[in-house]
Amino acid sequence: MTTIRVQLTKPLPHQQPAFTDARRYSVRNWGRRTGKDTLSFTETIIGRGPKTCPHPPGFCQRSITNDRTCWAGLQDGFDVVWVAPAHPQAELLWMEQIIPRCSGPGFEIKTQDKRVEFKGGGRGSLWVKSAADHDTVNSIRGMGKKLGGVITNEAAHFDLQYALENVIGPATVDNGAWVTIQSTPRRGSYFNTICTEAKDGSRPLWFYSHATFRDNSALPPNAEQSLAELVKPGTDAWREEIEAELLAGGAGFVCPMWDYRVHVHARNGIPPTWRWAAGLDWGTRDPTVVIIGAQGPEDTIIRYEFRYEGETAFKIGYKLGKVLMRLPAVEYIAADSQMFNRTDGNRQDRGPTLAERMQKGLQQAMQGQVVPLVSIVKGPGSVESSVDLLQELMAWSGNPEKPLPWQRPRLTIHDKCTNLIRLSSTLGS
Ligand SMILES: [Zn+2]
Repeated sequence: MTTIRVQLTKPLPHQQPAFTDARRYSVRNWGRRTGKDTLSFTETIIGRGPKTCPHPPGFCQRSITNDRTCWAGLQDGFDVVWVAPAHPQAELLWMEQIIPRCSGPGFEIKTQDKRVEFKGGGRGSLWVKSAADHDTVNSIRGMGKKLGGVITNEAAHFDLQYALENVIGPATVDNGAWVTIQSTPRRGSYFNTICTEAKDGSRPLWFYSHATFRDNSALPPNAEQSLAELVKPGTDAWREEIEAELLAGGAGFVCPMWDYRVHVHARNGIPPTWRWAAGLDWGTRDPTVVIIGAQGPEDTIIRYEFRYEGETAFKIGYKLGKVLMRLPAVEYIAADSQMFNRTDGNRQDRGPTLAERMQKGLQQAMQGQVVPLVSIVKGPGSVESSVDLLQELMAWSGNPEKPLPWQRPRLTIHDKCTNLIRLSSTLGS
């Protein structure tokens, strides 16, 4: 075996706890300028974990690393996959973080597949993948054989739950691969959920760490000033991006304007000319929630809500269809694009999609009548724009006890929709 020398940055003091902890899963809630990628590159090459192993035999990769450390890297012949939220981020990661570090003679760069082969040891490869769509993430699933570790970058900014449960979970079984999840936090993201759970101890297998630029001894003294030129201090963006604070609330859906007195009513007579539509939030683990609303020339009223727990797509479709038979005609049901994904979940690729199965249930219950399920894509930016729209619709002014007609919000909720009301009021506080 030839000896290959690679320049690695020694982990800084604030990175040490995450670098030396023995746990297989490491979640890093680190703000900007904390050296996330630098540490990740080091662990990609040489692995991570303590010198002395606390695991029962076979519960880490120590047999692969010749007792050097618990978790192995490229030098041990394992592959490591680095996941970025979407193609642009994957491209940036590849160009700015990976290529410059891999330009030495120890690596062979395969630009076509965004892969770098390490020439030492067992010739493990570093792969860069995007989580832009389920198909790209799904391609990780087939890598099991040599996969030793997974790093997810900016994990608060993609469908981390899908990636973990359907792809990373199954792919890491073969070699008991380690998983590092790093990001700045984002309100309402699954990353924040994992951080909270790891922090409070309800995920004992996960190591949680928090860091900000202030912990980074390698930064110049004017670092705070430079950051303040990028992000306005004191704002939510500062608290998340820089301080890595785990802010409470929904997925950016905050309605500080929420007021029960103006947003909730018990109005029943909805004019027959109003148009009805439904929105469906498919829950893989949470209940599936359907809201049905009517839209007039000025107002939108959320009139009904339904929740379905632990049932198949067909059954939910069937039950919903029975309900719809008793209501004014609903024109369409807007649903998460994930339901239309052919390779969703753990099912075989050829089966009908969740949307197709639900549509079948609907049609059967409605005796052939068709209320189409339509896909809404939650791409980057789309969440923000729909939040803007909601906030605009929910804005109001004046006296909350008695707003004048033009001061009322354009979106209101019927008082029977108790779950939605509870959710909105949580997000408002
Ligand atoms: Zn160990």
